[in-house]
Amino acid sequence: MSSCSYHADKQGSWHCPSCIKSFCTTCFPGGEKNFDGTSARCPLCRSELTFSVEDEDLPPFWRISWQFFRYPLQLQPMILLGLLFLVTQIAMSDLSATVTEQAGQLVVGGVLALALFIMVIHYGLAIIAALSEEQWQAPKLFDSESNILLTFKLLVALFVMYFFAGLLSMVSHSLAVIASVLVTLSIPAVTMVIALTHSLRDATNPAILAGVMVRIGWSYLLLWFAYTAVSNGGTALVWLFEGTESIKFLVTLLVVGSAYFSLVAYAMMGYTLFVNRNKLGLGNAEQQGVSLQPAEYDCQRVLGYSHLLLFEGRKKQAFEMVKDGLRRYPNEMRLRERMHRLLMLSEQTELLDKHSQRYLALLHEKGNIGAAARTLDEVITKIPGFEPEPELRYAIANIYFQQGRFDKAEALIGEPESWPASYIDRAGLYLLLAKAGLESGRPLQSVAELAATAGKLATPASQQQLEAQQLNQMALKMAEHSE
Ligand SMILES: [Zn+2]
Ligand SMILES: [Zn+2]
Repeated sequence: MSSCSYHADKQGSWHCPSCIKSFCTTCFPGGEKNFDGTSARCPLCRSELTFSVEDEDLPPFWRISWQFFRYPLQLQPMILLGLLFLVTQIAMSDLSATVTEQAGQLVVGGVLALALFIMVIHYGLAIIAALSEEQWQAPKLFDSESNILLTFKLLVALFVMYFFAGLLSMVSHSLAVIASVLVTLSIPAVTMVIALTHSLRDATNPAILAGVMVRIGWSYLLLWFAYTAVSNGGTALVWLFEGTESIKFLVTLLVVGSAYFSLVAYAMMGYTLFVNRNKLGLGNAEQQGVSLQPAEYDCQRVLGYSHLLLFEGRKKQAFEMVKDGLRRYPNEMRLRERMHRLLMLSEQTELLDKHSQRYLALLHEKGNIGAAARTLDEVITKIPGFEPEPELRYAIANIYFQQGRFDKAEALIGEPESWPASYIDRAGLYLLLAKAGLESGRPLQSVAELAATAGKLATPASQQQLEAQQLNQMALKMAEHSE
């Protein structure tokens, strides 16, 4: 994975040949529709960008092979295997019957076996399609939307290919052998192409098949080996039990075992397609980026570009970019946050002061007092005397109090007398100051006085007044005891 030059943990899908930089979709958001028909341009140097998505580092199928052997043990595949088991039992129910009866049974059994063989392939193609989209849950066995023709297409494709390979024997025997080896080698590719494109023409097109094999690379050979080995798994099982007398047992083992191993092979194919989806052009790599709504694109672009401009030390440009963005979207919190970061890095305290008022007010408006308190902490490190507007100041002082930062709560409230006359909840100010003072070690007499003032200012018989009176009495009593 070539990662973003500005986000080590993200894939860099856009590349600038001049800057030799890669950008992730956070740095360079949007898609074709957002670029107004023009090409994507580098945010740093305006060169044309190229787009490429590499496949993620997913483990190849052989490294997680146990997952495929477990795959058929899900409900739907188990039903299929169960059906196969039942049918074999019925077809061989009476082996001691007369010759004609046995022949009849054999015909019935043969027809049933063919039907089930087709069903296994049919289901296998559905498994490939599902796993090629990383769906590990086995598809439904009887899906009304599935197309039984696919299986015939696959069989026809293989037949046609072997037929032409056979024709070659009229020209040269060794050529025919090579051709049939090639056909055998391409079985998984044919199967995968049919499962994905549903097209007989694609599945018999040597160029397409070769493309699939070459793009998947060495993994394809391994897949082919696995496919061949696994699809002979049923036969291998029979060898294992060679000494067994019961023909019925052996046939059942062969049928059910082969089906099980075929499903394993199909699952491997599907997963291999998923792992290589971008190389095979199956992912959305063709579509460059993800197109966004114009306003969202505009906003994300400002965020993305300003991040990398800042990273490149082009602070001024980043600042202008965000400033422009805020002119268009004054209430966009992501832009406010970015502006806050930029101003914190700069020495423009006047701007920081102005912006912080706005930013904090917006945070307050959105009920995000916690973030407001954190932001205020930061601003105060730059502008020690900074005071947010009264409503917010009280709200943050309350947060400080809840956080046990009593000194800070007191400092933020300061002198209640100095608060603007327009501020209504004066009782609240005195009460909070008294409560914080009690915790921070303010003289008890002073706490009692503050509480008394709060009690006088509070609405008669309100909860606030009650609390103030209780605090006042408590402080007085404590003062008495400590003397
Ligand atoms: Zn990035
Ligand atoms: Zn560039």
